[in-house]
Amino acid sequence: MIPYGRQDISEADLAAVAEVLRSDWLTQGPAVPAFEAAVARYCGAGHAVAVNSATSALHLAYLALGLAPGKLLWTTPNTFVATANAARMCGADVDFVDIDPHSYNLCARALESKLAEAEQAGRLPQVVAPVHFAGQACDMAEIRRLADRYDFAIVEDASHAIGGDDEAGKIGNGSHADCTVFSFHPVKLITTGEGGMILCNRPELAERMRLLRSHGISRDPAAMTQAPDGDWYYQQLELGYNYRMTDMQAALGLSQLARLDDFVARRRALVARYDQRLAGARLTLPAVAHGHPAWHLYVVLLADAGQRRTVFDVLRAAGIGVNVHYIPVHLQPYYQALGFAQGNFPAAENYYERALTLPLHPRLTESEQDYVVEQLLCAIERSSAA
Ligand SMILES: *Cc1c(COP(=O)(O)O)cnc(C)c1O
Repeated sequence: MIPYGRQDISEADLAAVAEVLRSDWLTQGPAVPAFEAAVARYCGAGHAVAVNSATSALHLAYLALGLAPGKLLWTTPNTFVATANAARMCGADVDFVDIDPHSYNLCARALESKLAEAEQAGRLPQVVAPVHFAGQACDMAEIRRLADRYDFAIVEDASHAIGGDDEAGKIGNGSHADCTVFSFHPVKLITTGEGGMILCNRPELAERMRLLRSHGISRDPAAMTQAPDGDWYYQQLELGYNYRMTDMQAALGLSQLARLDDFVARRRALVARYDQRLAGARLTLPAVAHGHPAWHLYVVLLADAGQRRTVFDVLRAAGIGVNVHYIPVHLQPYYQALGFAQGNFPAAENYYERALTLPLHPRLTESEQDYVVEQLLCAIERSSAA
C-alpha cells in the first residue's frame, strides 16, 4: 500500500536517539530545551514549549489563554477532532465557523458575520482556533483584525503547517496568533513519534504552560507561597498534567528539524507534479489563497459527491492509501449529542462529500506518484460512466 503520509527516518535521526539512550537523561534532560530553542529560532518565535502531543499542546494553550467552564471556543469543522476536544477538556463550550469553499480553511467572512451576531447575543468567543488545513495559512491578517475588535485570543492549529509561510513570514512567528501549535505525529511534516509544541511571544504564557505541562509544580522560590523548606522543596501551585516530551523524542525532533526544509522542498515538488498531471481532469485541485504552504496533504475534490465512494474503493483496491480529511467535527456523535446537526455548516459538509486525500510524503517516488495519477484518472472515468 502506498500510504497517504508517513515518516522519513534517516541514519542521523537513529544516531541522535541512540545518543540520548546512552546518556544520563531519558526525560527532563537537555534535549528538550535544545529542541524548543531550535524550533523557536527556526520560526522566529520568542518561546517554545514541547509536549507529548499536539492535543496536549492545544489543551495547554487554551488553558493558558483562559478557556474554562462558561467560556467559548470557535474553530473550523474541517479539522481533526482534537482542535475542538481540547476546549471541551477545559470545560469550555465549542462552536464552529464554516469554511471557505476554495481554501477549505475557516472563512474570515463567515467569522466576521458570526461575531457580529454573537456580539448582539452577548456570547462572544474567548478563543478562536483557525487551522492551517493541508498546510495552507488561513487569512491571518483578517482574523487578527477581528480579534482586536472583538477581543478574543487566537490559537493557530498549525499541525499541518510547520515549515510553511503565511503572508507575514514563517508560520509560528506569532505576528498574528497568540499561540501556534505544531504536531509531530509520524504523518505530519516532522516527527517525534508522538509530540507537539506551542510557540508564543509572551513570556507569562510560556511560563504558565510549562507549569501546567508538569503537574502544576514549581521549584521557583519566587512563585511559592512560603520560603522553601530546603533544596528538595517544590510546591504544587495548581492542578497540572504530565504532558512532558521525552529526551529521545526531542533528539529525534531536533534531527528531523534539520531536514525540514528538504522535506518541504520535496513536498512542494510533488505537489507541482500532481498539479501538472491532474490539470484538465474532472477534479478541483488545491488553490492557494494565502502564503506559501509546506503541504502536509494533497486533497482533490471530485466533481460529484456520488463518485467518492467508488473512487476511494477502487484506489484502495489498487494499493493506494487514499484517505479523507476531514469528516466535519460537528457531525461526530459526541458533537451531535451537544446539539449540532447535519446542515449546520454546509460548506464543510459539501467539501467532505467530495474530498479525497492523495498520497504525499517525502519518500513518495515519481513512479509511485505517476501510478497514483494513472489509477485516479481511470477510477474517475469508471465512476463517471457508472
Ligand atoms: C494531527 C492533528 C492534531 C493532533 O495531533 P496529535 O499530535 O496527534 O495530538 C490536531 N489538529 C490537527 C489539525 C491535526 O492534524
